[in-house]
Amino acid sequence: MAFLTDDNTPVVWRGPMVSGALIQLITQTAWDDLDYLVVDMPPGTGDIQLTLAQKVPVAGSVIVTTPQDLALLDAKKGVEMFRKVNIPVLGVVENMAVHICSNCGHAEHLFGEGGGEKLATQYGVELLASLPLSMAIRMQSDGGKPTTVADPESQIAMIYQEMARCVGARIAQSGMGAGAMPTITISDD
Ligand SMILES: [Zn+2]
Repeated sequence: MAFLTDDNTPVVWRGPMVSGALIQLITQTAWDDLDYLVVDMPPGTGDIQLTLAQKVPVAGSVIVTTPQDLALLDAKKGVEMFRKVNIPVLGVVENMAVHICSNCGHAEHLFGEGGGEKLATQYGVELLASLPLSMAIRMQSDGGKPTTVADPESQIAMIYQEMARCVGARIAQSGMGAGAMPTITISDD
């Protein structure tokens, strides 16, 4: 939506309007020959999640959380919701798991330790990645070049790549890959 409005105009919409825009975006965009379509969802278990679950053949979900208890509570609800609508949970990604001081290299678990692992274990899914709270990720992303592009050999880029490999493997195993989209047949009558 940011491409359709100017920087200072908020999109003040009710749920059904957002859902409509989402479906329009997904179904009326001239997508290229995609390997994967990754949809970064807003937090929560609201209209958007429900619309996506009901109207789009979703191959799987990845739950992203920070390690502290409050965030884990929301993440749990996310897992439960995706289970309810029969979308496989491919795994958990723990974000901001550790902060490494750029001055002295001291590692600190600002938001607590092991939360992502705990959640993954509880639901019998994989902990796909533990990402650090990192200045480099923020600066490179803001600069339009995510870490995997800006610094592909870095340790952080390796974490992203490993995560992507795991997700790709899970989707392949589930058989929800290329066959997931409905085929369109044109009939004469
Ligand atoms: Zn320090």
